Amino acid sequence: MKIGIPRALLFYEYSPLWIAFFSNLGAEVVLSEQTNKRVLHQGTQTTVDDACIPVKLYHGHVLNLKDKVDYIFVPRIMGVSKGDFICPKFCGIPEMIKNSLTDIPKMINTTIDFTKTDKHFNDTIIEIGKYITKDENKILSSYDSALSEFNLYKDKLKQGQLPTDTNNINIFESNNRKIMLMGHPYNIYDNFINMNVIKKLRDDQYDVITPEMIDDNITSEYALQYDGKIFWNFARKLIGSCLYEVEKKQIDGMIYICSFGCGIDSIVSEIVERRIRKANIPFMLITIDEHSGEAGFNTRLEAFTDMIKWRHNLENNLSTHG
Ligand code: SF4
Repeated sequence: MKIGIPRALLFYEYSPLWIAFFSNLGAEVVLSEQTNKRVLHQGTQTTVDDACIPVKLYHGHVLNLKDKVDYIFVPRIMGVSKGDFICPKFCGIPEMIKNSLTDIPKMINTTIDFTKTDKHFNDTIIEIGKYITKDENKILSSYDSALSEFNLYKDKLKQGQLPTDTNNINIFESNNRKIMLMGHPYNIYDNFINMNVIKKLRDDQYDVITPEMIDDNITSEYALQYDGKIFWNFARKLIGSCLYEVEKKQIDGMIYICSFGCGIDSIVSEIVERRIRKANIPFMLITIDEHSGEAGFNTRLEAFTDMIKWRHNLENNLSTHG
């Protein structure tokens, strides 16, 4: 049996878990192509206009799997960490797909809530596994070994080994200047949509730090320093990472990749920018959508990285704006 996984949204966070799980059960896992012009075009043509670019890309990736698989894995994610909410788009994505796309393979659209009790979560895993086998013991043991692989992957990520989509670049291997790349994983690890920013920074001799390289317990602890209420799990991770870096002072600049039309980004980027600027760390916000052009992006990126170099070499670390 062939199970398709769209290379979009939480693929960039959980794909090693689900690929290992389905493979352990004996299914063949088929991934959609890496994001490219055609995937983007198909996504923007079929999604409601006011959706953010990651959701449009998700539609394009689902279409990319059409006629290639028996089932497409489009889970309804209701929660990933206790006490936080997830963006409602993740809860409604199966409905969006059902209503926007026709003639696609059947979906595995089980509701997944990582915050529920073990018993409840085991039932969820069994429900997903039953698309492939009736053997519940096999399903649970397949998930356990997939989870072990996933934990190893997360450890590697903390050491700077990025997902394979980022060309296996180890982004933190030297003592270069460091830039923190902020944003949702599907924006900072999808090379097409972020116009290869990680490679460009590495080629320019910058190390790159991402929120995934900081332990979740640390980011949650630092997020507590924020005096407002944080509702969203993405916001907790990003604000916690920002406050951690402000205290550690190990970065020379921060680039925030924000999705146009994302309510969470519009608030979090503002909070992050204020904290980072107050710490006298250069900050650049890049908003992406389907109209983003690479030439303009490159110009801004070069100006930003040049400014950091000048700041260090010529201005004795004084702010360029006085
Ligand atoms: S968090 Fe923002 S970018 Fe992500 S799916 Fe929701 S609206 Fe889109």
